[in-house]
Parts: sequence; C-alpha cells; structure tokens
Amino acid sequence: MVEALNVLLGCDVDPDRPRYGGARYDTRDDQLTWRSISEGIQLLQQVLDGIGIQAGVKPKVIFCLRADTQMRDIYGDAAWPITKYADLWRSLEQDGHELAWHPHLWRWSNESGCWYQETEDENWISECLETGHAGFTKALGKTPVTCHMGWTFHNNVSMRRISELGLRVDFSGCPGVFFGGGPGSAGTVFDNKIDWLGTPLRWYRPSEVDYRRPAGGGEAGLSVVEIPKFTTRSGVLRKVKGLAARGKRAPGTGAATAAFLQITSLPMLYSRVIAERLACREADPFFATYFHPDELLADRPRSAKNFLYSLANLEKNVKGLVRAARQDGREVSFVTGAEALEYMVGGTRNSGV
Ligand SMILES: [Zn+2]
Repeated sequence: MVEALNVLLGCDVDPDRPRYGGARYDTRDDQLTWRSISEGIQLLQQVLDGIGIQAGVKPKVIFCLRADTQMRDIYGDAAWPITKYADLWRSLEQDGHELAWHPHLWRWSNESGCWYQETEDENWISECLETGHAGFTKALGKTPVTCHMGWTFHNNVSMRRISELGLRVDFSGCPGVFFGGGPGSAGTVFDNKIDWLGTPLRWYRPSEVDYRRPAGGGEAGLSVVEIPKFTTRSGVLRKVKGLAARGKRAPGTGAATAAFLQITSLPMLYSRVIAERLACREADPFFATYFHPDELLADRPRSAKNFLYSLANLEKNVKGLVRAARQDGREVSFVTGAEALEYMVGGTRNSGV
C-alpha cells in the first residue's frame, strides 16, 4: 500500500495587507480592500484546476475566513467577509474545499489611533473569539471544524476557548517559531507576537497549562487537536525568512529555533522545505502549511518581500511536492480538518486519541 502524505493547505483570507496595497493599521473606518478575494481566489481556482489535470491530484484548500470583533467594529457584522462573498464560499465548499475560521485578535486603541494585537486581556480575547464564532456560525449555518489563528498566535486562553467553542482541529502551530511582537511599519503599535517554542512537529492534544505542547502525565488535555505546520530548521532558510520579515523584527526573535515558509515562496527555497519534510517522520502523516491570497495578485507594489511570494511559486511548489512525495514512494492527499481527524481516530498510531 502506498503511504499517504496528508496535506493541509490553508488559505488565510484576510483583507489586502498594507504591503500588498491594502489599508494601514492606523485607519479605523472601512478602508479595507479585498482584492485578495475578488481577484486572488479566482486566480487560485484556475491554478488548482491546472494542477489537477497535470499532477493528477486536485488540491483541496482550507479557506480560513475572517470572523472576529475587528470585522464587527468595521462592518457591523462579525462575519462580514463570509456574508458578503457567501456565493463564492458555498461554491468552493461544493468543490470539496473546507470553510474554516481565521480570527484575528485586532483591537482598536483610541490612545494610539491604531489596531494592535491583543495578547494579554483574557476577557477581551474570549469575547473576540465568541463573537467571531457566533458570526461564522450564523453566516454559514454551521460551526467551524478547523481554526487557523491570526499571526498563528495562540496563548492558553485562546487555545482553551476555541476548544470549548467546539473547534476540532487547529493548525496555527509553528514549531520553534518565536517573535516577541512590537510596532510595525504599517501603523500598528504592536503585532506579530508568536510563541511556539518547544512545540513538537507531530500532532497533539494541547495541555491546558501550555498550549505549545501535548498534555503530559496526569495533565488535562484539551479536546481540540493541534496539527502544527511544518517548520524548517535549515539555517539558510531561517536567514532568508529573517530578511523577508524585516520590519517585523522584535525583541527576543533570536530565541526562535525554526522558521515557517509559506508555500507561495520561491521554489528554489521551498524545494528544501519539501525535502526536509519528506525526511521527517515525526510530522507524519501530515504536512500542514498555508498562504495568503494577496500573495497571488499579479499587480502589486514591488519590493523584495513581495517578490518572495507568488501564484506561480504556489503552482510550482504544489507540483514539486506531489512529485517529490511520489519519488519517495508516497502519494499526496489534500485533506480537510474533518478528514485529518478521521485519520487520527481511525489511524493505527497511538497518540492518546
Ligand atoms: Zn490573518
């Protein structure tokens, strides 16, 4: 039997980010633009069809949709992007893609006049997640199965809360990635706080006292399953990623032991990630990754950072992954969160499920 490599291909459906021509974080009212959806996802669909024909396996995408208090504060509807583009989401779902949840903990500060990443205020974080979850559920008539958090951030409060809200799968984890958070060049006083130090590459049920690792002897584990994304230990790739993250640099970044590369990255770099993943049995049977649809836009401001990511790269990398896996005697299978869960429940590996 050919061994499967189950790929979770996430797409964080955010508004166009400032470096792709979107609104800065120091604008309160609706100046957000969504070419990410209106153009990016259409381009993506064409490429996915092409890959299906050429590689013999059509990628299934986990579309992670925004529903949170920032959307409510700006549009008066916590699930505005879901409601606004409802027909598109339903047709994507009919094509086999998953509609998942992508909450951002963006909080408005009157004092600083900007949005910032809330990481401390437990009541606020709970309320943001409850509001977003209720909005998602109302807009689509069902609860989300899978979650990918904004900035890939979690703390113990957010991980516990999504588990209590009934999320089954989270793939926010980025083993070894650490950013201390700080001011950004696009108008925020604080964002990009991420801490996945000590997180294993294998999937796990998070400990209640430390979301970054599995529950240990005697500790209570949460019901949500964490499927961490694959991160690279390669020094070269970490250096490249460090250059791409210019402007996101913050105290403590040096503590990171690994880096995450989007699947929209340059193929000459990403092929190393693929090779590293295929050699890593710990992460089996999953390969979780993600990208943003604004990275797919052809017409965008030029900069080295934007040059790193593109639609053409995504296409080459997905085909490269399918090919490299076959050479390794494995067949890529693109899965939704629910399908990943079935594997875990029905799988032979004993990991405490
Ligand atoms: Zn996001």
